[in-house]
Amino acid sequence: MSHQSFHPPLRTLMGPGPSDVNPRVLEAMSRPTIGHLDPMFVALMDDMKVLLRYAFQTDYDLAMPVSAPGSAGMETCFVNLVEPGDTVLVCQNGVFGGRMKENVERCGATAVMVEDEWGKPVDPNKVEEALKANPDIRLVAFVHAETSTGAISDAKTLAEIAHRHDCLIIADCVTSLGGSPLKVSEWGLDAVYSGTQKCLSCTPGLSPVTFSPAAIERIQNRKSKVQSWFMDLNLVLGYWGGGAKRAYHHTAPINALYGLHESLVILEEEGIENACQRHQHNHSALRAGIEAMGLSFVVDEACRLPQLNSVTIPDGVDEAAVRSRLLNEYNLEIGAGLGPLAGKIWRIGLMGFASNQTNVLLCLGALDAVLT
Ligand code: PLP
Repeated sequence: MSHQSFHPPLRTLMGPGPSDVNPRVLEAMSRPTIGHLDPMFVALMDDMKVLLRYAFQTDYDLAMPVSAPGSAGMETCFVNLVEPGDTVLVCQNGVFGGRMKENVERCGATAVMVEDEWGKPVDPNKVEEALKANPDIRLVAFVHAETSTGAISDAKTLAEIAHRHDCLIIADCVTSLGGSPLKVSEWGLDAVYSGTQKCLSCTPGLSPVTFSPAAIERIQNRKSKVQSWFMDLNLVLGYWGGGAKRAYHHTAPINALYGLHESLVILEEEGIENACQRHQHNHSALRAGIEAMGLSFVVDEACRLPQLNSVTIPDGVDEAAVRSRLLNEYNLEIGAGLGPLAGKIWRIGLMGFASNQTNVLLCLGALDAVLT
């Protein structure tokens, strides 16, 4: 039997991620593999930390990529900061808050849930009330940019409330990093994770994280061992931490890290403010076309993510058939709804490299043609 090399079609990725990868990133990933303790690679790691601090807008020392996708960044935050018997406040306004709850429970802790309607932001008043009612809570977790709905929550206010109640705060910034304003240390977010496949225009599979000194202190003073060997930051930092002496922890995904480094260089060249403005600008262009077609958005404009546009499916339309025609006839991927929004919405991503005017026009033209 003879097998052949896989040659994927050239798609335009306008779903909830992965999004189109910048060709410069793919080129960087094809450069020669070197050893994970090679001095040249160690220098790249140091540079990456500086670039990640810029991307996260953080002055925390700990900024590094976890060698696995966004879900592993999520787990890294929870397994290091949660101990058996703890009570954690989890905000849920979409799919990913539900995964946070799972993480808390798998750490042997109890999750107190603050729930908001899907498509709405986390309500800070409910968080305040829940913390008043549960004075034992020392950790709050929320999703900054809910990819399942397209709503952004007020990270700064949530961090202020958490700190006022002596809590640390975990923020999921998988979809916000590089596309929406995010000021990690100014806002006081304590443990933040992201993903490479959304607004960073990189391939999937890595999860940048950053931790505040207060979060590190809590990890160092744990009563129990972190239950995951791979994600135990005390061990990972033997490799990613500062200092000339780096010890083997796991074999770093060398070429994937070349790609992330390149994507961060590209972000620095553009400038974060410019990148956020570009996302906003392209969202406005998409919105004009979507509304001209008589379609509407799920999320109110005030808390709508420019990089993830949830559009209500008109009555009588076979939504899966539309998506498959877009894919087959236009090589264009858009996303379906999840959970209670399955069958009710399309999710149109304008993330990172894919957030450009050509894609806006392609999507509007193709959607219009398929719907009429
Ligand atoms: N959190 C959010 C908000 C996400 O959108 C995603 C992925 O889409 C994840 C976490 C999980 O990331 P990954 O699929 O890279 O594991």
